[in-house]
Amino acid sequence: MTEPGTGSDLQNVQTHAEKDGNHYKINGSKIFITNGHTADLVVVVAKTDRSAGAKGVSLIVLETEDAVGFRRGRNLKKLGMKGSDTAELFFEDVCVPTANLLGPEEGQGFYQLMKQLPWERLMIGVTALGFIDFAIAETVKYVQDRKAFGKRIMDFQNTRFKLAECKTKAELLRSFVNDGLARLETGELDAATASMAKWWGSQMQNEVMHECLQLHGGYGFMMEYPIARLYADSRVQMIYGGTNEIMKELIARSLDV
Ligand SMILES: Cc1cc2nc3c(=O)[nH]c(=O)nc-3n(C[C@H](O)[C@H](O)[C@H](O)COP(=O)(O)OP(=O)(O)OC[C@H]3O[C@@H](n4cnc5c(N)ncnc54)[C@H](O)[C@@H]3O)c2cc1C
Repeated sequence: MTEPGTGSDLQNVQTHAEKDGNHYKINGSKIFITNGHTADLVVVVAKTDRSAGAKGVSLIVLETEDAVGFRRGRNLKKLGMKGSDTAELFFEDVCVPTANLLGPEEGQGFYQLMKQLPWERLMIGVTALGFIDFAIAETVKYVQDRKAFGKRIMDFQNTRFKLAECKTKAELLRSFVNDGLARLETGELDAATASMAKWWGSQMQNEVMHECLQLHGGYGFMMEYPIARLYADSRVQMIYGGTNEIMKELIARSLDV
């Protein structure tokens, strides 16, 4: 999806695919593509009709092996999430059979994405809960062990209250994403609910990482402690999959009918 000039405003993608006999010729570029450096099958969001806005967007599957004109750019250096690569992709007159169009006809891409994105957004909420659970468990272990002023860090009321707040956030998020998963199973997961799981889950995740790192003192800033990596990896959860501002926009749209 994402391009150097457009992320949130997905309708504005510039990558385009022109029909040429029984092939499409793809031109354009993408950025921030997770696993783009290693992927050998890429679903490209491209305009098949540049005058039709969202209705001109299609999804085209590209097998990258031997694809002439396809090039991977930099493996981008990131603040966190270093376990997966994040790439630039370039397409210069890349020929793809028209049979690689995803779906029965052109112009369905935007709607196909709108159907799939709620799933991705709920998964970001689920991931947030995984981070939170792990961070709380690590922090409890740490504050039970570490001592200051002759007592365990765990015994300070501030520590107890902060951890109680974190645990409450975890359990509220668990209830919400469990409900979202149940709705996903029955096909009832709507865009607004998935957006809530994404923005609120990632917001809680970042708040919890902040508090848990603080409770580690200076050690929390050291990469040898898991909380440092959890903190760094958390930030992007508020950005990818649609920014949290866009999530709130989608929720507001569901109210303003
Ligand atoms: C590690 C990582 C992995 C990623 N993986 C992928 C991937 O696999 N595939 C993919 O397609 N993309 C991927 N992305 C891209 C990601 O989805 C975009 O970065 C994101 O959607 C935001 O787009 P942008 O960066 O262009 O920001 P912009 O759209 O330029 O937004 C900049 C700021 O303006 C705000 N803003 C924009 N529009 C509005 C509005 N209407 N109202 C209020 N505020 C607004 C945004 O919320 C943000 O704060 C990834 C990004 C990262 C960092």
